[in-house]
Amino acid sequence: TLTPEASASAESYVRRIYEEVKRRDPQEREFHQAVKEILDSLVPVLARHPHYMEHAILERLVEPERSISFRVPWSDDSGQIRVNRGYRIQFNSAIGPYKGGIRFHPSVYSGIVKFLGFEQIFKNALTGLPIGGGKGGADFDPKGKSDREIMAFAQSFMTELYRHIGPDTDIPAGDIGVGAREIGYMFGQYKRIRGGHEAGVLTGKGLLYGGSLARKEATGYGLVYFVQEMLAAQGLDFHGQSVVVSGSGNVSIYAMEKAQQLGALVVACSDSAGYIYDPKGINVDTVKRLKEQDRLRISEYVKEHPHAVYTEGSTAIWTIPCQIALPCATQNELDEEAARTLVAGGVKAVGEGANMPSTLPAIDYFLEHGILFAPAKAANAGGVAVSGLEMSQNGMRLSWAFEEVDERLRQIMKNIYRSAVRAADEYEVPGNLVAGANIAGFLKVADTMLAQGV
Ligand code: GLU
Repeated sequence: TLTPEASASAESYVRRIYEEVKRRDPQEREFHQAVKEILDSLVPVLARHPHYMEHAILERLVEPERSISFRVPWSDDSGQIRVNRGYRIQFNSAIGPYKGGIRFHPSVYSGIVKFLGFEQIFKNALTGLPIGGGKGGADFDPKGKSDREIMAFAQSFMTELYRHIGPDTDIPAGDIGVGAREIGYMFGQYKRIRGGHEAGVLTGKGLLYGGSLARKEATGYGLVYFVQEMLAAQGLDFHGQSVVVSGSGNVSIYAMEKAQQLGALVVACSDSAGYIYDPKGINVDTVKRLKEQDRLRISEYVKEHPHAVYTEGSTAIWTIPCQIALPCATQNELDEEAARTLVAGGVKAVGEGANMPSTLPAIDYFLEHGILFAPAKAANAGGVAVSGLEMSQNGMRLSWAFEEVDERLRQIMKNIYRSAVRAADEYEVPGNLVAGANIAGFLKVADTMLAQGV
């Protein structure tokens, strides 16, 4: 029932917004990419409901409510004073306090924090929990740093950040380079400055002081639960499938673990330097120990498992033929060429564990070739969902059993899958979960913004 005129006007509106976003901050390429993906999905929604355009919902959505950048001075082990740049972006608080991780990585700049914060708005909305979108980080490289240096940096970072956050305003968590150790140092500093134990100000905390069981596992497990739903709709499952999982951090490790529990054969994983391949299956416990405890490179794996092969170059992992590919490393790690190779190798399903791991041409290639594709903001929402559950537990001053959190996570991933499918059907892009997730997340946030006025 859509007139060509309505579609054309939605399309030109969307193009205008996109051009304006690029004009304002021309160097923020990752942010442009994230905005483009959302805008393209929303054309049918805007064409059917022009009031979103009349109320300038998209103009408002693409501009962060608040954006902070700050100096982070710290001293290294040689006594040298160093300075990094920290960021916190408070993107949208329509449905709840800002919520999103903190990334410590040398590639961090405004364009990275902004794309992550923008994605987080829709992802958080999809969880069904009352959390808005935010993100933070620093261009600090934790690689090769001593424990004392990590502590000094995390404390200095929080010495500025504390004034901008709080259990009812903005609740950071981890992301690349920030795990339980870093959260612990940041929480300690927040508590010292504030003079009170506000457990709900950070999530991903240690289990001894308010952390949630299953938070560590949540993103990886949630990803596999989501892909499980997507496969089940086609009468498929993980059992006996060969799986390639990029990365070897928190998301990757628990995606591998859950996929194996469901009977899959996980044959490869990677880090930023290279990948390991073992046709008999990766030993996840070894990867866990190397990465979580010893903080070593994945190349060390082959010393313990000589039948595995280590190859330099992280993106070459996509040349390994597999039935299910789970990119869990970082943004834009999977380009169109990798997509072509995977499809030629017989891939059936792709599930994004990292944020925006596939380039736009790669996504288009998968969708055009009928590959089941689970987009990040739906498929990796399990991490922030359990963060939301951690906030609930902190608010009630109690903690749930692992099984209880895991069961809630499973239910949330099912619900996200169903809302994405439903939205895709309703806007006549059946099976396109990219559009479905974008539309379902957008509608919640947009309708809330309308309800709350300008
Ligand atoms: N950094 C994670 C994400 O990308 C989790 C954020 C959180 O738990 O707040 O969703």
